[in-house]
Amino acid sequence: MNTKIKHFAIVGGGTAGWSAAAMLARRFAGQSIAITLVESPEHATIGVGEATVPAITQVHKQLGIDEQAMLVATDATFKLGIEFRDWRVPGEKFFHPFSDFGVPIEGKAFYHAWLCMQQEAKLESHTGNPLEHYSLCASLAQAGKFSLPNNHASTPLAWYGYAYHFDGAKYANFLRDYAQQLGVAYTKGTVSAFVKNPTSGNIDCLVLSDGAQLKADFFIDCTGFKSRLLAQEYGEPFCDWSHWLPCNKAVVVQTAANPTPPPYTISTALDSGWAWSIPLKSRTGNGYVFSDNHITEDQAASQLLRHVTGKPINDPRVITFRAGMRENFWVKNCAAVGLASGFIEPLESTSISMIHTAIGKIIEHLPNGCLDPKATEHANHLNRLEYERIRDFILLHYWLSDRTGSNFWKQFNELSLPDTLQYKIDQWLTNAQLVILEQESFQAQSWLAMYSGFKRYPLSYAIDAPMSTTVRDVSAKMRAAIVKGVSHAPYHHEFLSTLYETD
Ligand code: FAD
Repeated sequence: MNTKIKHFAIVGGGTAGWSAAAMLARRFAGQSIAITLVESPEHATIGVGEATVPAITQVHKQLGIDEQAMLVATDATFKLGIEFRDWRVPGEKFFHPFSDFGVPIEGKAFYHAWLCMQQEAKLESHTGNPLEHYSLCASLAQAGKFSLPNNHASTPLAWYGYAYHFDGAKYANFLRDYAQQLGVAYTKGTVSAFVKNPTSGNIDCLVLSDGAQLKADFFIDCTGFKSRLLAQEYGEPFCDWSHWLPCNKAVVVQTAANPTPPPYTISTALDSGWAWSIPLKSRTGNGYVFSDNHITEDQAASQLLRHVTGKPINDPRVITFRAGMRENFWVKNCAAVGLASGFIEPLESTSISMIHTAIGKIIEHLPNGCLDPKATEHANHLNRLEYERIRDFILLHYWLSDRTGSNFWKQFNELSLPDTLQYKIDQWLTNAQLVILEQESFQAQSWLAMYSGFKRYPLSYAIDAPMSTTVRDVSAKMRAAIVKGVSHAPYHHEFLSTLYETD
C-alpha cells in the first residue's frame, strides 16, 4: 500500500534546491511534513542564471514574496523582453517582448492587419512600422522606460508581462531564508551513496561522505549537471539534442554596472554562437554561448572581451554543457529538478521557469500525498513535452537566421528539423497559422515575434490589401496610444531608484 510522504529530502542548494524547498514548504505548511535540504560544501553552484521570464512573478505571488524585498536582496532590475541583435543579418535588431502585438481588428488577430500594412508599405517603397511598434511593452523597453502593466485595463495594450534580471546566488540565498523561516532544515554534507529498498527500488536513505545517513520518503535531485541521484544512481538515459542545438560551452565574465540599465536582456549573434548582456543593479552579466566545434575556449574568451562594454571585474570562466534532457525526470521516489534533469541553452532564459514548473508537477502528481506510478508517468510525459516545445522554439531562432558568414551558422541551412517544429513553420508560412501545442511555454505572440523579427512572412493572410479605412484608423490609434503611454512612463533607472531608495 502507498504510504503518505512525510519527509522530503532535497539534495543541492542552488536555485533549484532552494526553489524546491520554498515551494514545498509553502505548499505543505502546517501539515507535519518535514523538508530537509542537504548541500555539499565541496561543490560550488553553477554561478549563472540571471535572466527570467514572467512566470516567475506568479510563483512569487503564490509564495507571498514581497517583490521589493526580493528585488533589493538580489540586485535585480526589470525585464520586458529580449533585444536580438545581428541575429537575422549583422546590423539588424528586433525585440521579443513579454506581450502580444496590437488588439484584434474586425475579429482577426492584429498580425493579419500588420502583414497587410507591410505589403502596402512595400508597394509604396517604404518599410512601414515594425510589429513591435504595436506593443506597449516593446516600445517602453526600447525607450529605456519601465512601468508596471495594468492587466485589468480595458485595452490589451496595457496587458503585458515582466520578469527580472537578478544575481542567481543572491536569489538562492533569498529563497533559503524564506524556506528556513517556514521550517526547512539545512544540512551541509556530500551525498556519496544510497540505501535502496531491494524490492521497490525506492531510495530509503542518503549516505553522506562522513557516514551520516538521512532517511526520507521522497528525494529531489538538485545536484546540477552531476545529476547525482537521477543519472548516477538510477542511470536515467539522456536525450541528446546537440545535433539540433550545437552550442556546448559558455564563457562568462562580469562588467561594471550600467547606471541606466536597459529593461531587457540583449542577445547578440556572433560568429560561432551568441552573447548575452544582462544588466543587474550591481553589475552586468555577460556570456558567449558557443560551439567548441567552431572556436576554441581562448578564442571565445577574447571575442567576448572585445564584445563587452566596460571593464571586466573578474576573469572569464568557461562552463560546459550539453543540450538535452533526461528521458524521465522522475523515477521511483526520486525526481530531478534544474540542471540535474536537463538543460536547453539559455537563449530565452527558460531554466529557472522550468525549475518552478517541475516542482509544480511533483506537487500535483502526488495524489493524497502518496506516490502513484501512473501519476509519475503522466508527470514525465508532461515534462518531456515542455522540454521539447522549448527546444523547438530555441531551434527556431537559429533556423530562421540568414547569417552565412561562418560554418557555425551555415550548418543550420542543412538541418532536418523535429517534426513538431517543421509542422509549425509550415503552418505559418502557408496559412499564417500560429500553432500552439500542449505544454507550450511560448505562446503565439512569441512565435510571431520571431517570424516578424526574422522577416519570414506567410504567403497569404486574413486581411487583404487594400486595407480598409477602419483597419488603418484603428492601427493608427493603437500606435498613438502606445506613444502616449511611453511618454508618461518613467525611465527604468528612475523606477528602480524609487524602489531601492524606499527599501
Ligand atoms: P547548481 O547551481 O549547479 O547547484 C547544484 C547544487 O548541488 C550545489 O549546491 C552543490 O553543492 C550541490 N551538490 C552537487 N553534488 C552534490 C552531492 N553529491 N551532495 C550534496 N550536494 C551536492 N537559467 C535561467 O533561468 N536564466 C538564465 O539566464 C540562465 N543562464 C544560464 C547560462 C548558462 C551558461 C548556464 C549553464 C545555465 C544558465 N541558466 C539560466 C540555468 C541556471 O543557471 C540553472 O537552472 C540554475 O542556476 C539552477 O541550477 P541548479 O540548482 O540546478 O544547479
